[in-house]
Amino acid sequence: MGAIQTPAGSVDSKIELFHSRLRDVIGPAKWETWIKPLEVTHDGGVLTLEAPNRFNATWVSDNYTHQINEISSSVWPQPFEVSVSVSPKPQVERAEVESRPFQPTLDDHARRRVDEPLEQRDTSNLLARYSFENFVVGASNRFSHAAAQAVAEQPGRHYNPLFIYAGSGLGKTHLLHAVGQHRLELARSAVVKYVTSENFFNDFINSIRRKRMDDFKARYRKADILLLDDVQFFEGKEMVLEEFFHTFNSLYEAGNQLVISSDRSPRELKTIEDRLRSRFEWGLTTDIQSPDVETRLAILRKNASAGTKSIPPDVLGFIAENVSDNIRELEGALTRVTAFATLTNAPVNLDLATNVLRDIVKLRSVTPLTADTIISTAAQYFEVPQRELVGPSRRQPLARQRQTAMYICREHTGLSLPRIGAAFGGRDHTTVMHAVEKITNLLQTDKTVYDSVSAITQQLRTT
Ligand code: ADP
Ligand code: MG
Repeated sequence: MGAIQTPAGSVDSKIELFHSRLRDVIGPAKWETWIKPLEVTHDGGVLTLEAPNRFNATWVSDNYTHQINEISSSVWPQPFEVSVSVSPKPQVERAEVESRPFQPTLDDHARRRVDEPLEQRDTSNLLARYSFENFVVGASNRFSHAAAQAVAEQPGRHYNPLFIYAGSGLGKTHLLHAVGQHRLELARSAVVKYVTSENFFNDFINSIRRKRMDDFKARYRKADILLLDDVQFFEGKEMVLEEFFHTFNSLYEAGNQLVISSDRSPRELKTIEDRLRSRFEWGLTTDIQSPDVETRLAILRKNASAGTKSIPPDVLGFIAENVSDNIRELEGALTRVTAFATLTNAPVNLDLATNVLRDIVKLRSVTPLTADTIISTAAQYFEVPQRELVGPSRRQPLARQRQTAMYICREHTGLSLPRIGAAFGGRDHTTVMHAVEKITNLLQTDKTVYDSVSAITQQLRTT
């Protein structure tokens, strides 16, 4: 042990005292999680707490500085300084990861996963509609589509990670789901996990709170394919970036596939530290451009053929010509036209389409809408207070009005489902997804819903 004797007692026994007092104050569980991993040394008037990683160090500084100062000054009465730092050791491990870029390991652990089909079904979160079959390929997305297919067919082999970036509504989420589904078609026992970055973040925070970090790690690190959507959400969130860095390394090292989407290229993710950004570029980076008019037309044809109404070609052409930025809006425009025809019992023709789309077409040229503008406009239209529109009550017609406002947000802002959920009083993204589906269906059958969507959209156009 070789404790150094000082007039005030041995350094080791003082450090023990420091630990036991701190454990009493913050409780054994927190002590175990946050303080025990620290290497505590006291030397030359400096008490150094060395954390195994930056996350641990930040957490301790943010949460326990006060207690640490208080207790250490009771243990070491002479004036001194407290310093929380990060151990240099993990750097070595990272360097090893980097120099071993790619080694699929099929260890026993990996083989065991094959027997867990139930769990795989529960956790993959895939939407059947977002399949490769339903994805229309054109010049704007050809490369991303091909890369996604290659990755689904031979995960971990060629492009790891596959990093897909594109603006809103251009098919990122669709492709991520398609990779997962195609993989499961080819290998039923594969462990596929789709997660939005926002849910990864929330899961991470909750796991820390509940002290279930081991479960958290197991959840993400055992995936054969991890599909992480909208990684730009991690920008500026250091704790989760640190955790995702380790998730990335763990999966990569095991030869498991990562597919990551973002609204920007890795280079443009400015506040994501270099070590992670450079990893994003280790594999293949592809983008999706806005679709050209032929692709838009092909997408509309595909959607129209899935519906019950037959849509004349000139109507499809008109929509394809006029709604151009974003496939989500393109689909919304077609829904609106068919809905209006159904509700008014009128034939779908160019006149009707021109009328219905006037508001949508114009809407595209004004500055981007925010959720706040949509919420306040909708609240005005429905004559309910804004705070109720985003509040917890589920009574009707308030709930339907809320769903309508969510639908409009989805259609006319670039916001992700979790972002919209957050704007509506912190609701889950599945609630928003449900709302969008509900309103999409009601638009075809319920005149009140149709009228409210039209009127609010109209109003937004003039604000
Ligand atoms: P993003 O995640 O990039 O915002 P999504 O993947 O959610 O976009 O796509 C928006 C909508 O457009 C979805 O309904 C999706 O199915 C559809 N979509 C996008 N790209 C295509 C495509 N190439 N073919 C058919 N549908 C598409
Ligand atoms: Mg998306």
